[in-house]
Amino acid sequence: MFSNAIRLFMLDGFEIRVDPSWFLIAALITWSLATQFFPTTLPDQSQTAYLALAFIAMLGFFGSLLLHELAHSVVARRYGVKIKGITLFLFGGVAQLENEPPTASSEFWIAIAGPAMSVALGLALWLISGLAQAIGTPPALIMVLVYLATSNMILAIFNMVPAFPMDGGRILRAYLWNRNGDVLKATRTAARSGTFFGYTLMALGTVAVLQGTVSTGFWYILIGFFVLSAARSAYQTQLLQSAFEGKTVAAIMIRNPVVVSPEITLSEFVNQVMLKHRVSFAPVVTDGVLIGQIDRHALSAVERDKWTSTRVGDVYAGLDEAATIPPDMPVQSLIELIERTGARKFLVVDDHKLLGVVTLANLIGHLRTADAATQGRLW
Ligand SMILES: [Zn+2]
Repeated sequence: MFSNAIRLFMLDGFEIRVDPSWFLIAALITWSLATQFFPTTLPDQSQTAYLALAFIAMLGFFGSLLLHELAHSVVARRYGVKIKGITLFLFGGVAQLENEPPTASSEFWIAIAGPAMSVALGLALWLISGLAQAIGTPPALIMVLVYLATSNMILAIFNMVPAFPMDGGRILRAYLWNRNGDVLKATRTAARSGTFFGYTLMALGTVAVLQGTVSTGFWYILIGFFVLSAARSAYQTQLLQSAFEGKTVAAIMIRNPVVVSPEITLSEFVNQVMLKHRVSFAPVVTDGVLIGQIDRHALSAVERDKWTSTRVGDVYAGLDEAATIPPDMPVQSLIELIERTGARKFLVVDDHKLLGVVTLANLIGHLRTADAATQGRLW
């Protein structure tokens, strides 16, 4: 996510970035303020004045959003959670936490900090607009202040919806986590309410489109879709973390895997190993020494009618650093390795000795078990 984000500046030790998609929402907000909000609230001004006010208000809005994210980040840092940075994007802003909050109470305080900041900003701006009015400030400036006060309040209210990934959803998760002590179940419930909220937004958007407010409608559908996928990925991230926390490769590997000798032919490999043992690959071992592995990929390089005359030793893949892992590697690191290299099969090796194998299917099997445990039923 946000691999194309542009670095803007550092704020209180946090890197502030904008994703290219932010320019679209910035332009849309400026346009809607310049053509609707300001012409309605401040009649008889020039187009240029509307555009200038809209631009200032838009910057003020995203400035407020940055402060909201900064509040999350500062509290997160106090709890020892690392922050990758704050990124503005199409659907607002996000403080990217490197890892999940360690406890239910830290989750609660990190989550509430953002809306608290928005409420404080809203109140302060509302007070300032009142004072500005009292001392006779030009109405245009007061209108900008009123807009910012209102939008900060709306931001706080929207974020307090108890649905993941909104702050309210995190607060709900913290509450359930604290009550039941089960972070995965708590995430599941908060993510479900996120899913429900996402569908609700999409339904509202569809109604709006059908009633003719097409652009607003599409916007709701888009946000609904974003909420939906964020809720899903939040649960999956937590599932990964809960299922594999503190576990090493040794705990999940398949011990004593079927191995093959380089002397056997490909047809023997297919019939006596792949089909019989239902494996998609096998380590190649000669005289007790691991020399590599063979899989479907190597087979597909040889024509089928040559399988009886070709030996495993002719086509197997030699030991690859990336596909050889130690038994004490944390599963989290293995997952990162899979994400980074795209490799799906690994040989677990200690001191040149083959201890076992791990495959992606293997990992997914463990995840399903963990998932079934939270649901009380299988997929
Ligand atoms: Zn927030």
